[in-house]
This record gives sequence, structure tokens and C-alpha cells, in this order.
Amino acid sequence: MSRVYNFSAGPAVLPECVLKEAAEEMMDYKGTGMSVMEMSHRSKAYDEIIKTAEADLRELMNIPDNYKVLFLQGGASQQFAMIPMNLMKNKVADYIVTGQWAKKAYQEAQKYGKANKIATSEDKTFSYIPDCSDLPISEDADYVYICENNTIYGTKFKELPNTKGKILVSDVSSCFLSEPVDVSKYGIIYGGVQKNIGPAGVVIVIIREDLITEDVLPGTPTMLQYKIHADAQSLYNTPPAYGIYICGKVFKWIKEMGGLAAMKERNEKKAKILYDFLDESKLFKGTVEKKDRSLMNVPFVTGDADLDAKFVKEAKEAGFENLKGHRSVGGMRASIYNAMPMEGVEALVAFMKKFEEANL
Ligand SMILES: *Cc1c(COP(=O)(O)O)cnc(C)c1O
Repeated sequence: MSRVYNFSAGPAVLPECVLKEAAEEMMDYKGTGMSVMEMSHRSKAYDEIIKTAEADLRELMNIPDNYKVLFLQGGASQQFAMIPMNLMKNKVADYIVTGQWAKKAYQEAQKYGKANKIATSEDKTFSYIPDCSDLPISEDADYVYICENNTIYGTKFKELPNTKGKILVSDVSSCFLSEPVDVSKYGIIYGGVQKNIGPAGVVIVIIREDLITEDVLPGTPTMLQYKIHADAQSLYNTPPAYGIYICGKVFKWIKEMGGLAAMKERNEKKAKILYDFLDESKLFKGTVEKKDRSLMNVPFVTGDADLDAKFVKEAKEAGFENLKGHRSVGGMRASIYNAMPMEGVEALVAFMKKFEEANL
């Protein structure tokens, strides 16, 4: 068996111990004689899996009792519609557009009401987070929307926007469980799990209870109503059962690693190795404003597209996979999620140094 260092932005690297444990349990999950994949989602064994997963997530994020945790399907992208369908009571929402995912959410919301772009960093290819301390929040806005970590561009909100009392909705797909959060500051925190938590197919929505109502936009499909899923504790229909089981294992792993504060410390150390090198390199440079740098996604360039391609190719040959930047921006991007080991980043930097010497 040989494993590569996988810098994919998503689906992305998972902890090896989780993969091993899942492999061990593949044929016979805890004496049930079957795989979790083959198991009824109404069985006793599965009930324990999903309840334990939720309890561990609640503990990790210190989720207050007046928030529900939903394990849904449709990816983060489905939330782009589900959020306005459920929350747009006044049919007005304010969007802060800091990248492609926020932009897609903003565009989707326009189908359901008046979506206002109240701030954006598009003028500089999303390379920074705009000042959000005093934005023109709409008087009747049902919520203010952000994408907290911009996976493609490598920026992160280090401070939440001042929503002037409006509900904050945040897409945390690519920074989920990477550091502690104060859940009580949000109306909804959600994310697809395939970046930092588990296999694609699960989206976790953490939503304040008073936002879960029957008062949704007319025509909202049953499957897109938070209340339906909340009332059924994510078992209205068959959930992405195997995916949730893996998420549960990752929650346990993070707990063993010391929780979110320990994760943050580790992630800061990892990212610093790479950013420090980028700051001193004569060949490579980071592409975003330093104050807004993500701990999870690190884009960089040489300034020469051919040299970038050469780097990506040689890196792949050396066992560093998926370093090509998003097709919309080019260059390189190293995604260094929770499960990327310190050694992976150290090895990458050593490789970059060698490449620099050979190509400068
Ligand atoms: C990947 C990503 C998405 C899209 O996720 P899907 O599950 O593919 O719909 C949305 N938002 C962010 C921040 C992402 O990183």
C-alpha cells in the first residue's frame, strides 16, 4: 500500500486511522454481520451511530441546546436554495460575495426574492475579505449570508461581519471543525463534509430552532424544508447513512486530538510552515492579502503559467497530488485540511525549495 500526500480541495484527505477502522468494520460492523452500508437506517445499530455522531459534534462545537443539527443530502450547493426557501419571510437577504461559492449562493437566492450584494471583493479577484464592520444592511433583510472560508481563493473571515442584529448564515464547508466557533453568533452554520469531515454526500446544517418553521416559500419541496428533517431527526427519509458513519469517526478522531482548540493550534502551525516559505521564496508567492489568509486552502503562483504547470507535474511525480489551482484561477493551491499531517506540509515545502533552486 502506498499513500500520497493529497492536497485536494475536496473531496479531500481523511485521517488514516479513520479509513483503517472503517476497513476493519466493513464486512461486519460490531457483530451485526453486515456493513453499515447494508444496514437499515431504522436499526438499533444505526440509531446509535447517528445519535453518537450528533452528540460528539455537539460536544466538539459546544452547540447550544436551542440549535438543531441536521444531516442532509444535496451538498452545500443545495443549501443555496434551501436557505432562501426557508428563511426569506420578507423576501430580502443580504449577501457578502467573497468568492465563487458565495456568488453562486447569491445568484440562487435571486430566484426567491431580493438578494442584495452588500459587499464584494470581486474587484481584486477575491483576494481579500472586505471590511464588514459597517455595511448597508437592509432594514428588512431576513438574513446576512457569508462564505466563511473561500476554498478557491484561500481567504477566510477572521472576524464575523457586523450584521446589525440580522441573522447570520454561514457556509463553512472548507473550515468546518478547523477551529473553535461560537455557534450562538449564527442563525445557520452549514457545510458539505467532503472538505474537512467525511465523504461527499453529507451536508451538516446547524440551525437555531426558531428559524425552523412551516412558514416557507410556497412550493418549497418537502425534502427542502428544515422542519421536516428537524422533526424526524434527520431520518425523514434514508439519510446518507454510510457518510454520516464516517463523519462520526472523524468527530471521535478530533476529540482524541484534543478538540477544536488543539485543531486550530495544529492548523496554524501547519499553515505557518507554508506561508513562511511563500513569504521568503524568490519563486513562489501567495496570492491573497496576508491578514485574510485561510488556514485550510493556500493558493500560490510562480507568476509564469508554464512554470506552474511544470511544478504541478513534477510535484505529482514526487507524490504530492492535486496541487493544481482551481480551473478559474490557475496557479497552485495546497489544501491542508485537518487530516493533512504536519509531515505532508513539511515535505511539500522541502520539495518547493528544491524546485526553486532548480528553476530560478
Ligand atoms: C465545495 C464547496 C461548496 C460546494 O459543495 P458541494 O457539496 O459540491 O455542493 C460550497 N461552498 C464551499 C465553501 C465549498 O468549499
